[in-house]
Amino acid sequence: MTRWPEWTLAGGPVQMSAQTLRDQSRPVLYHYDPAFLELYERTCDLSKQVFRTDYDVVLMHGEAILALEAATASLLTPGDKVLNLVSGVFGKWFELFIDKYGGETVEIAVPYNEAIDPDIVRKTLEEHGDIKFLSVVHSETPSATINPVEAIGKIAHEHGVVTLVDTVSGLGGEVLSPEDWGIDIAIAGPQKCLGGPPGLSMLAISPKAWDTMEKKPSPVRGSFLSILDWKDTWIEKKKFPYTPSVSLIYGLESVLRQALEEGIERMAARHALIAQACRRGVEAMGLRLWAASESIAAPCVTGVVLPEGVTDGDLRGRLRDHYGIMISGGYGELEGQLFRLGHMGIAAHPGYLIAQLGLVERTLSDLGHPIELGRGVGAALSALSDWEPA
Ligand SMILES: *Cc1c(COP(=O)(O)O)cnc(C)c1O
Repeated sequence: MTRWPEWTLAGGPVQMSAQTLRDQSRPVLYHYDPAFLELYERTCDLSKQVFRTDYDVVLMHGEAILALEAATASLLTPGDKVLNLVSGVFGKWFELFIDKYGGETVEIAVPYNEAIDPDIVRKTLEEHGDIKFLSVVHSETPSATINPVEAIGKIAHEHGVVTLVDTVSGLGGEVLSPEDWGIDIAIAGPQKCLGGPPGLSMLAISPKAWDTMEKKPSPVRGSFLSILDWKDTWIEKKKFPYTPSVSLIYGLESVLRQALEEGIERMAARHALIAQACRRGVEAMGLRLWAASESIAAPCVTGVVLPEGVTDGDLRGRLRDHYGIMISGGYGELEGQLFRLGHMGIAAHPGYLIAQLGLVERTLSDLGHPIELGRGVGAALSALSDWEPA
């Protein structure tokens, strides 16, 4: 049997805190047990607080890809024009959903180490007066970059466009609010910055998005992809369209509670500080950051260009098998070009960061890459002087 790693410091999912594991392992309740109904309602409520929204929040019982497809299916009518912003793998993939549901894509794309320029979004919306929707990934986890979604959302809002934002790895890493940022549907997951289990998605939905779904010629209902089913059942009658993922809800409720105890600002600041220290460490090792500029580097994960002569398999393989640390590589089109140091959820902590950087140094040295052991660790430690425990 393959040995399990000591630590999982990937680009999500990530390891969960002891408290989350304990909360998630409580006995499975019948979903109409009053205690579960209460817990479910509290989970929706806590999700709203973490999203800083008064919009309805719907929980869907599948990985965030379910919510992304559900939102596309529920909003789009064949022929609708969608402005899809592409700065990475997830943004590009979204076009497949637009195609599948008959939308017409207008694309703004940048190289996968850059971010979308809001001015170009404005210009494009002005040129194409008939664009109905805009889709954008907030934190492009595979590229370890972040898009200026606040500026983009506000521009889209001014143009009356319905915006769909994948903030699966953004929520908790930056302070956001759908209302303030002009987002109509924000989709997040528990398994990234919140440090919860994979297998659920959370959607914050504006009245305008509900209206769009309801006014579609044939609204999506009676389907696992239906968001309206959740409105008709849970939101209106406190019933479920199917059995919810009971244990995962325990995990989600737990991480939302922990996030609010820490405070969303502090949580975001913690991710930002660790990400910054990580970048200092990477540079001091003589490696190159994947992001074209520091201002667009993601808080949840740091992308590093694979150094000359070192393969992804060698680096991550040895780190995993010899030192017990699992990190992520490049994903999709980025495979073999970069590796990613993970610092989301409980991994956004000096202990995990320093160990990770130190063992990356050790691994590179083992592989014959010229490196002065401890330089990256030292630079990261120097950048941690502002660390405050939660
Ligand atoms: C993790 C993530 C998702 C969910 O996709 P999986 O790869 O199936 O976990 C979607 N979008 C972004 C930006 C993500 O980081």
